[in-house]
Amino acid sequence: MIGPFVQDLPATRVVFGIGLLDQLSDEVKRIDGRRVMLIYGNHESAYAEQVESQLGYAIVARFTDVVMHVPASIAQTATELCRAADVDLLVALGGGSSTGLAKAIAKATGLPIIAIPTTYSGSEMTTLWGLTENSRKVTGRDARVLPRTVIYDPLLTLSLPQDLSAASGMNAIAHLVEGLYAPGISPVAMLQCEEGVRALAKALPRIAADPHDVDARTDALYGAWLAGWALGTTGIGVHHKICHVIGGAYDLPHAATHSAVLPYATAFNEPFAPGAMDAVVRALRSAGIDADSAGGGIWDLATSIGAPTSLRDAGFDPKNTQEAAELVVAANPVNPRPIELAGILELFISAYDGTRPVASTK
Ligand code: NAD
Repeated sequence: MIGPFVQDLPATRVVFGIGLLDQLSDEVKRIDGRRVMLIYGNHESAYAEQVESQLGYAIVARFTDVVMHVPASIAQTATELCRAADVDLLVALGGGSSTGLAKAIAKATGLPIIAIPTTYSGSEMTTLWGLTENSRKVTGRDARVLPRTVIYDPLLTLSLPQDLSAASGMNAIAHLVEGLYAPGISPVAMLQCEEGVRALAKALPRIAADPHDVDARTDALYGAWLAGWALGTTGIGVHHKICHVIGGAYDLPHAATHSAVLPYATAFNEPFAPGAMDAVVRALRSAGIDADSAGGGIWDLATSIGAPTSLRDAGFDPKNTQEAAELVVAANPVNPRPIELAGILELFISAYDGTRPVASTK
């Protein structure tokens, strides 16, 4: 049965295709950008040169001190630079960390963003922002941080190392899985989430076999776009809450943490969201993965592409388990399965152990 539902779609212009970074200057003109601040991390400097060659003198400021989880002090420094240079447009080139920094500046200044993603994080399609201060990551939603335009060019992902590609792809799948049971789900979002899981589950093993496979990179970026869009419009549950809490508190790598937690968070919710889990299993099967359950099938996919399936691999210290579980319970995420300490502790223990999950029967 369809609905009831509310669909609230924020508008982002999306330019998607191989080689379409060369449309950046047209996109900048389209929103009348004249004084650009270019934000990128060290590994994106080759692409930054392409941006510089297109935008030339329009770039009046550059910021390259991009750090995962957006430390508040760095956001403050970048915002001051932006104001001092009288910037009127932010161009964020890179993964979720570059986009996240641009969002922090946009939140403070109201400036528009053009995002050029080079990973599968999906941040470019959301109104979600995050800032970390005193080992606590605070997140929220603000329409001002949603990029005005996103340019998806699969060529910019060819250099993403295989381990990061696998983990980042699992991060995108996490958005899609949680989107399927989040409060903002709509009939269109259901189709989008299932299609996104299918696209990524088909693409990631091909990328693992050949990171320079442009077709596979294009399919994965397509799945990442659907995932970011789902994250932006549907919502999150216990899985994302765990990753945000432990990512900020213990400075863990974002994508690897998502990859490590997802099979277990999915199994935790499996009996409480049967429609969503059926969609995940269908998508995995149509991608050629012989999934007997959503959590188990996700674990199989992650294992086959060398993505982390244990919090140990993501650098989590088990001595923090009790504290982390208490932080998650205190955050009280909206989730199909009720959140209580014993269940969350069990989830952490399984995710640290890394054994293939079986769906919880509780
Ligand atoms: P990231 O942006 O930190 O990138 C990981 C590493 O890969 C960095 O060293 C980066 O320089 C490098 N890299 C990126 N693209 C590359 C490429 N094409 N080739 C070679 N190296 C490349 O990691 P991420 O996982 O993309 O983003 C993580 C951050 O994004 C976290 O802070 C997370 O909270 C945030 N995030 C936010 C949202 C949101 O909606 N607000 C969604 C997802 C992630």
